[in-house]
Amino acid sequence: MLTPTHTPDALRFNNRFASLPEHFYTRLNGSGLPDPYLVGVSPSAAQLLGLDPAQLTAPESLAVLAGQRAPAAAAPLAAVYSGHQFGVWAGQLGDGRAILLGDVETPEGPMELQWKGAGLTPYSRMGDGRAVLRSSIREFLCSEAMHALGIPTTRALSVVGSDLGVVRESIETAAVVIRMAPSFVRFGSFEHWYYGKHNAALRQLADHVIAHFYPELAEADNPYQALLAEVTRRTGKLIAQWQAVGFMHGVMNTDNMSILGQTLDYGPFGYMEAFDAHHICNHSDNSGRYSYANQPRIGEWNCFALGQALVPLIGSVDATHAALEAYGPAYSTAMDELLHAKLGLKATLDQDEDFFNAMYAMLQATRVDYTLFFRRLAAIRRDDPAQDGPVRDLFIDRAACDAWLVQYRARLRQEDSADAPRQAAMRAVNPKYVLRNYLAQVAIEKAQNKDFSEVQRLLSVLAKPYDEQEEHAAYAALPPDWASGLEVSCSS
Ligand code: AMP
Ligand code: MG
Repeated sequence: MLTPTHTPDALRFNNRFASLPEHFYTRLNGSGLPDPYLVGVSPSAAQLLGLDPAQLTAPESLAVLAGQRAPAAAAPLAAVYSGHQFGVWAGQLGDGRAILLGDVETPEGPMELQWKGAGLTPYSRMGDGRAVLRSSIREFLCSEAMHALGIPTTRALSVVGSDLGVVRESIETAAVVIRMAPSFVRFGSFEHWYYGKHNAALRQLADHVIAHFYPELAEADNPYQALLAEVTRRTGKLIAQWQAVGFMHGVMNTDNMSILGQTLDYGPFGYMEAFDAHHICNHSDNSGRYSYANQPRIGEWNCFALGQALVPLIGSVDATHAALEAYGPAYSTAMDELLHAKLGLKATLDQDEDFFNAMYAMLQATRVDYTLFFRRLAAIRRDDPAQDGPVRDLFIDRAACDAWLVQYRARLRQEDSADAPRQAAMRAVNPKYVLRNYLAQVAIEKAQNKDFSEVQRLLSVLAKPYDEQEEHAAYAALPPDWASGLEVSCSS
């Protein structure tokens, strides 16, 4: 399957997307980065591809990672798509800076590889086809962190930098990330053909997606309706996973929604720190459309946008609506399971919904750190307050914590919860380490000064988010005061 040379040139590409008709894409080579340097490599992503991370620093490998040159067997192309941005139809959007190399066989099935930031494409619009080092490091780290958390996501193999200047609010330097996913087809890929009134292409794309990624649906009475229902289910579940871990995407436009139900296109994302359901992680999102609390309903809105685009294939609006009904149950069932797991609860009781709502109200009132709250809650004992200290210490209002712990303990007694197994189970689902903005910022600033060690160290801490890793406890710390001034916007 994989040749023993372990360099990118040894990758054997199939080019399944390129077998679609030419109106789906434009073939092109990346212009790449001049004088590239390796900023970070994901050992586990490299392993999946059969690449040796140590060999990726060789100049011929770097040239591939930097988008200067495609491996011989690749057939690079930029795919076309459109989308709704902030709820408004925006027409053709991309792909303005991602170039698909093709797909390679891996133990987890075929994976497509993309360069992100390798230069202009015919769909770049007003953009330069580039990505800045700052946002590339964030995408690289968060892709791999989400994977380690067990949340469906595109992966990232590498981030490569260059001194090439790019203009954003200020002049920054350019970078290229190699991303991987079974497919990068988005909801907006379908909307493109629907709004372009090109039903033949719409069908070709749906058939391609079903054949390669949902083959079991080909036998359904209405495969397109079955596709919409399954994508809707996956999306509902994905967003429950985001909510549970406190992840905020920041730009849930329909062009950033994966047809596979994976987290896609990391921009101004954030992880919930001091809990505020109305938190907006994207500084450019003035109305809070993509706030934490809005994510579940925006996920459904996006599925409706996909449904609209699939109506010509599904055949009726009623059948389309029927498929979209999968969203609510998929989200609620997953969220309910995840909340039970986060709190170490095995039984499902009638009053659990009220209990969860009371917890959210308490978190909202106290603004406690979301990640540390659940992690430290795992330490408490059912009948003995001796281990309450760590979780209590997170609260300015200790009384609010104590009052809630009384309810929590009562709930634990109701199901006769045993401490040791509950604690182990809670630590397996409540991460100690998430990619807090300040951690990314420290790694970015060092990398901007050509010290890449922190990117790699942070990656390795985030690769085991549920492990104690006592030696890295500092990475689980509350954000420092300076972090309150950090703003992350769409600029990337
Ligand atoms: P985003 O909001 O980051 O998902 O971007 C929306 C679309 O704009 C995508 O198709 C991107 O490929 C494209 N885009 C974003 N930044 C650039 C850029 N610097 N150059 C060209 N296209 C870009
Ligand atoms: Mg995007």
